[in-house]
Amino acid sequence: MRTVYVNGNYLPETEATVSIFDRGFLMADGVYEVTSVLGGKLIDFEGHAVRLARSLKELDMRAPVDKDDLLAIHRELVRLNDIDEGLIYLQITRGSDGDRDFVFPPEDTEPTIVMFTQNKPGLADNPAAKKGAKIISIEDIRWGRRDIKTVQLLYPSMGKMMAKKAGADDAWMIEDGFVTEGTSNNAYIVKGNRIITRALSNDILHGITRAAVLRLAREAQMEVEERNFTIEEARAADEAFTTSASAFVMPVVEIDGIALGDGTPGHVARRLREIYLEESLKKAV
Ligand code: PMP
Repeated sequence: MRTVYVNGNYLPETEATVSIFDRGFLMADGVYEVTSVLGGKLIDFEGHAVRLARSLKELDMRAPVDKDDLLAIHRELVRLNDIDEGLIYLQITRGSDGDRDFVFPPEDTEPTIVMFTQNKPGLADNPAAKKGAKIISIEDIRWGRRDIKTVQLLYPSMGKMMAKKAGADDAWMIEDGFVTEGTSNNAYIVKGNRIITRALSNDILHGITRAAVLRLAREAQMEVEERNFTIEEARAADEAFTTSASAFVMPVVEIDGIALGDGTPGHVARRLREIYLEESLKKAV
């Protein structure tokens, strides 16, 4: 049984509880982060902590713990659950003042913080990354502040189900003709030695893995172009891939039933996955 963290306490997962009036539960009034663990250490912790602080600030939500405590809790959960490879999920909500109301509860209302681990042996050496992912395109009907990492994940979850029903692995979302991002990852295409990905704005999540991968790509003398691209351009690309904290760099081998290149993971995506894993392990804490 897992040991989880809830509001200052480490408890067996079956004993951890949150109020039915919690605004995370009633209104999706909460934010989250997912940090991966490799070799028992946290990958890109600093980036996740900084983004969490930004998400909270954008929603006028109080941080229940500071960054040092956050790191200590992450590490304690890794230790208590003996995680070598896996994920740590963190969620902070606006809490509850014991009723349901659209108006925010008083400012001194305690936020709710929960954290739990997901044990994923083989996360780095994932066979899915060797095969590559098949994706479909769907319309992006999410709200306008996708840069805030809120727990409103119903549409991304539905998108993933649409992909599964279509015999694919995931979906990329399209707005005004251009790809925004994947259901739970940032989206890239490759043409020759050039990596193309949408620029940062309120339209997409500012991926922590995206920032690291683009920096490493530039250091490796690859060209990076941050601009909008259409799904037609993606279908005609040499290769494509996605990035996220839980899947690192994931090659995409098919878009809407059309194979990219020879239908196997491209060399840019494979190389970036290698470099990312190598470099982030060196900096893991
Ligand atoms: N976009 C969306 C919509 C996501 O849900 C995620 C993963 N949470 C990402 C991008 C990738 O972000 P990160 O690299 O920080 O995991």
